[in-house]
Amino acid sequence: MMSREPVIPCKGFRTGTPLAAWRVDAFVKVTLINHTENPDRICAAAAQSCYSEKGASELFDATSNDRARNMIDKVVSMGHLSVVEHAHFTFSVEGVSRALTHQLVRHRIASYSQQSQRYVSMEKAEYVIPPKIADDEMAKAAFTKAMDEAWRVYRDLSKAVPKEDARYVLPNACHTNITLTMNARELWHLFRLRCCRRAQWEIRLMAWMMLAEAKRVAPILFSNAGPGCYRGACPEGDYSCGRPYDKAKPPTEQALLAESAGADE
Ligand SMILES: Cc1cc2nc3c(=O)[nH]c(=O)nc-3n(C[C@H](O)[C@H](O)[C@H](O)COP(=O)(O)OP(=O)(O)OC[C@H]3O[C@@H](n4cnc5c(N)ncnc54)[C@H](O)[C@@H]3O)c2cc1C
Repeated sequence: MMSREPVIPCKGFRTGTPLAAWRVDAFVKVTLINHTENPDRICAAAAQSCYSEKGASELFDATSNDRARNMIDKVVSMGHLSVVEHAHFTFSVEGVSRALTHQLVRHRIASYSQQSQRYVSMEKAEYVIPPKIADDEMAKAAFTKAMDEAWRVYRDLSKAVPKEDARYVLPNACHTNITLTMNARELWHLFRLRCCRRAQWEIRLMAWMMLAEAKRVAPILFSNAGPGCYRGACPEGDYSCGRPYDKAKPPTEQALLAESAGADE
């Protein structure tokens, strides 16, 4: 397997944090590569334009942070959510498993571009080892053996048949990169579902990293974004984990990684 630096490279998190050895395999790289300029003020001006004789061009210049916060809170509390669709965010998510991206692309109000297994050589065995497998010697040995075998067959097959057919033997664990663009409304929805402890560990880690990045550039729009338990009772009902996140104390990267491995926070 390709080795990687044991760091979390997400800008929203502390970078360069040395991690325990197994965490090298729980590597998710999230980068906010572009976003609507002034996302908070754009959405606030758009909201205000619904109730004003003035147009958003004039309102935008006159919108202070306090006014933007009041305006966004007001329209959101009324369920007038389309105003936050004016802010777009483009993320690059790299070195994650195909198991993660399969879940991610179920979120339909988005644009995606994913690394192709037809055009990009998959000859290097690059894959994600789930922390619980990496932590268990026997499980890790069985897992690694299966990966080695999958890639051995892949290399043999790709000498005889097109890559698009050889790739059928590659596993869910296979590394991939994906670029995605979502508006703030869809990001709220994604964070509600995927920051939740009921979401799978890898996509949960990705979602919290994305939330940290989104908050950095649009603190007003994302001030209440996060798992369902941030806004009251757990929406998961009988499936609730019973351990609501504390909005006043968002989880650290260490806590999220420890959760991924099944350890207590
Ligand atoms: C913990 C967890 C477990 C899951 N388990 C499974 C599983 O076992 N099997 C499985 O198949 N999936 C599973 N999913 C995926 C889930 O069912 C959704 O497909 C995924 O979360 C995308 O969310 P969404 O459909 O609400 O919204 P998105 O696609 O993100 O769309 C956002 C919103 O837009 C609206 N919308 C979008 N498209 C339509 C449409 N065609 N018609 C009407 N309204 C629309 C809806 O209001 C929707 O909520 C799971 C998700 C989670 C978080």
